[in-house]
Amino acid sequence: MKQKRFILQENELPTAWYNIQADMPTKPMPPIHPATKQPLGVDDLAHIFPRECCVQELDTEHDFIPIPEEVMDKYKAYRSTPLVRAYALEEALQTPAHIYFKNESVNPLGSHKINSALAQCYYAKQEGTTNVTTETGAGQWGTALAYAARVFGLEAAVYQVKISMQQKPYRSSIMRTFGAAVTGSPSMSTRAGKDIITVDPHHPGSLGTAISEAVELATTTPNCKYTLGSVLNHVVLHQTIIGLEAEKQMAMAGEYPDVVIACFGGGSNFGGLAFPFMRHHLKDGRRTEFIAAEPESCPKLTRGEFRYDFGDEAGYTPLLPMFTLGHSFKPANIHAGGLRYHGAGVIISQLLKDGLMHGVDIPQLESFDAGMLFARTEGIIPAPESNHAIAAAIREAQRCKQTGEEKVILFNLSGHGLIDMSAYEQYLNGDLVNYAVTDDDIQRTLQSVPQ
Ligand SMILES: *Cc1c(COP(=O)(O)O)cnc(C)c1O
Repeated sequence: MKQKRFILQENELPTAWYNIQADMPTKPMPPIHPATKQPLGVDDLAHIFPRECCVQELDTEHDFIPIPEEVMDKYKAYRSTPLVRAYALEEALQTPAHIYFKNESVNPLGSHKINSALAQCYYAKQEGTTNVTTETGAGQWGTALAYAARVFGLEAAVYQVKISMQQKPYRSSIMRTFGAAVTGSPSMSTRAGKDIITVDPHHPGSLGTAISEAVELATTTPNCKYTLGSVLNHVVLHQTIIGLEAEKQMAMAGEYPDVVIACFGGGSNFGGLAFPFMRHHLKDGRRTEFIAAEPESCPKLTRGEFRYDFGDEAGYTPLLPMFTLGHSFKPANIHAGGLRYHGAGVIISQLLKDGLMHGVDIPQLESFDAGMLFARTEGIIPAPESNHAIAAAIREAQRCKQTGEEKVILFNLSGHGLIDMSAYEQYLNGDLVNYAVTDDDIQRTLQSVPQ
């Protein structure tokens, strides 16, 4: 009999995260201070983030980092997530490829983000912090943080990108249900927000504007720490629970992936799934191709430049070595709000530079075509972000159809789209459009990158 889903029991869950920094052929360059250009250490970062997260951020030595028992206990509420063989999708595509997906949409919050929210809130609580703050785009990260803060008894203040708040009103209801205070960004409640609104009163907001506001709140409020849903090394570290489970589950299926694919906003669900497999690629010579699927309208991996740039729009954060479109880049209002970010995480940027992975860019319409086919074959309506991974997986499967190769393709279903039905509604009504970016657009915003 063909097995469809592969599930680990509680006692089979991985108990340590994988820190790829220990195994990278080129270590990531350090974050630096924007004025002095000096490398930043744990003490420089720990006034913004929980200290343990800063330690993890800069740890290039330990390959496995134990998951605290309190975090493990919370993981058990929804982990393991299923590894699923997409037989019906394979059949619809008439491909000889074997397509698997890791279903991170099956927790109560609907995306992978909870994996790091729980860890960050646990460490914040441990050090005596009472309040956490953050930004959120489409709302998945804010939702995860609101829940994790509640679980560990912290107060959460969330800045949500204004345009996403309008597109997805129920996200803020969910955050408020868990007790978080939610503000649309840019807002008049911070200096960063006021500055942005002064220049552009109709600014739709972006992850960049919301990060600026949250960082400002964290640095001006006692006992308040900032948390981030993606981009940083420690966030990707926490997400490796995805790939570590998938590794065991692929073994249960008796297969090993030739291609690993995930959508790409800042890199956490991509790194989370890919890094445990990349470990074998680096250390045991097991060959796998790693593909990050980004939107055509925000192409930092395929068309950005490797530079030191700010993580946020207002230029409050340290400078990070990243593939970037420039921190002033304003992504089009695509429905995949979680992918509307100007840069790529530090580890991923280095891996891309070293040729260990590559990016593909996906037009919005192609992403929804893929999501529709997936919904109609596998019965799950994916998040608009995840549609990019599905589209890239379908491209691979179609290539296999032409060549006759029986490749094993593994992709991450980073979330479900049940709060994104207005996007599907637009697609079904034929109102969804593509947004191309010109080289001139990119050159203009790259000028905002500090020299
Ligand atoms: C946030 C989000 C993403 C993008 O963030 P990464 O850090 O690149 O993973 C992708 N999919 C979903 C469902 C998200 O919520």
